Amino acid sequence: MGVTRRRVALKVDCDTYGGTKNGLPNLIRLFDELKIKATFLFTLGPDTSGRAVFRVFTQKGFLKKMLRSNAAALYGPKTMLYGTLLPAPMIGKKLGREIHAVESAGHEVGVHGWDHIRWHDRVGKMPFDKVERDYMNARAEFQRIFGHPAQSSGAPGWHACENSLRVQQNCNLLYASDTRGGNPCFPSVNDRVFNVLEIPTTLPTWDETLGTTGLVDENAFITFYRGLVRGTEVHSIHTEVEATAKLALFRKQLIAWKTDGVEFVTLEQIAREQLANRGDIPVRALRRISIPNRGGLVSTTVESA
Ligand SMILES: [Zn+2]
Repeated sequence: MGVTRRRVALKVDCDTYGGTKNGLPNLIRLFDELKIKATFLFTLGPDTSGRAVFRVFTQKGFLKKMLRSNAAALYGPKTMLYGTLLPAPMIGKKLGREIHAVESAGHEVGVHGWDHIRWHDRVGKMPFDKVERDYMNARAEFQRIFGHPAQSSGAPGWHACENSLRVQQNCNLLYASDTRGGNPCFPSVNDRVFNVLEIPTTLPTWDETLGTTGLVDENAFITFYRGLVRGTEVHSIHTEVEATAKLALFRKQLIAWKTDGVEFVTLEQIAREQLANRGDIPVRALRRISIPNRGGLVSTTVESA
């Protein structure tokens, strides 16, 4: 038996107009410098981030998280007003050129929803036809920008449900990355098994760990993440954090991982490896759980009985 390969797939979630606009050129440059290929997932509809302020009233832990991660500084004052006092910019329509440049730079591209805030906060309560419309809007916009269909997607806020899995089932996807924790699997809901491979995010995100007690200095923070890579990990990053406000620290993180011999892969590579032995992929049941330092609940999968 050889030594376990330590690998990281970077899943870049582009949530907002500002993050997409300002973060993409930074990441393309950084990944070019370090010879890393990553997976970028784009939110393509209206940026209604301003509506997230209402989570202060509806979601336990939201205010604490916003204060701890200093969200206003990370996201910028304008983003906090989109969809409320300022009109919501249409991300795909306005930033098609910036988004297309990611694929031209050799990275994998996929979909991260239409209206991030609505999906994040409401998808579990939305009827099937509304979930389908949101998802299909994003796919149509992706097709318009890239000239080919999306082969993958990641759910906003790691929020999957029976309706979203039903919609995805008909889209000829290579994989989805909708959940947190556990191994790649075929998800099931009430004994119905869905046929799209799910590849979960395995590492905690920076907005969950920044400012956490014990990780206040940069070295401690980077050392913590170095220790988390045990096998093949999926790390979700956000253009609003790692690609802008925390870009210099993110560069240090990537260099530290490279020094440790960590290899970088795309989610597509992981999917193809998994699907080469399709019969070995387990079925796991979809659940909602809370995660330390994240407001609200996220989707995960657990071993089916
Ligand atoms: Zn997101």
